[in-house]
Amino acid sequence: MLNLVLFGPPGAGKGTQSAKLIEKYGLIHLSTGDLLRAEITAGTDLGQEAKKLMDQGILVPDSVVIGMIENKLNEKKGAAGFIFDGFPRTVAQAEALDNLLEGHQLSIKHMISLEVNQEELTQRLLERGKTSGRPDDQNEELIRKRVQEYGEKTAPVAGYYDSQGKFQGINGIGEIEEIFGQIVRIIEG
Ligand code: ADP
Repeated sequence: MLNLVLFGPPGAGKGTQSAKLIEKYGLIHLSTGDLLRAEITAGTDLGQEAKKLMDQGILVPDSVVIGMIENKLNEKKGAAGFIFDGFPRTVAQAEALDNLLEGHQLSIKHMISLEVNQEELTQRLLERGKTSGRPDDQNEELIRKRVQEYGEKTAPVAGYYDSQGKFQGINGIGEIEEIFGQIVRIIEG
């Protein structure tokens, strides 16, 4: 089993690199952002509550995303491995993920952090907003709020994995293939 956490601020390229990792290693992609947007599209109560926060660039409660990940882990037993994308976003989520995985006799192998400066992030997200239809990508103030949430609540997750010897930072600016090559080198170490 190859279980990875892809880490980095909004717009760092986690989705792009996840798609390439899935293709190469046959992993299951678990993106809490995608799962939440699916709930919104389906019009569930959870989706309606989450949307109010997501539209302000604020994180949804830990219990909500942890519950969604727990369901998926139970559904996909026997997978070749998982890529966690956009999760864990708080230290409490990271602790909960370790507990959930332990219950399945699994663990995280690497936490790979894509590092991109704020200026580049804002440009990428505004560009994505032109085609993604995501309301949270279309407004600079909201993007700033998301990056601020990242700095306050999510950045400390790096230290959590570093203390387990699993943190690997890479430069997220450059050619997509070149960045992917660095990720593969970490995995195949
Ligand atoms: P991005 O990383 O590009 O901002 P995501 O699609 O991962 O986008 O997340 C969009 C929004 O969904 C976040 O701004 C947040 O409100 C919510 N969200 C996604 N994942 C989580 C999570 N693990 N914990 C809390 N909120 C989350």
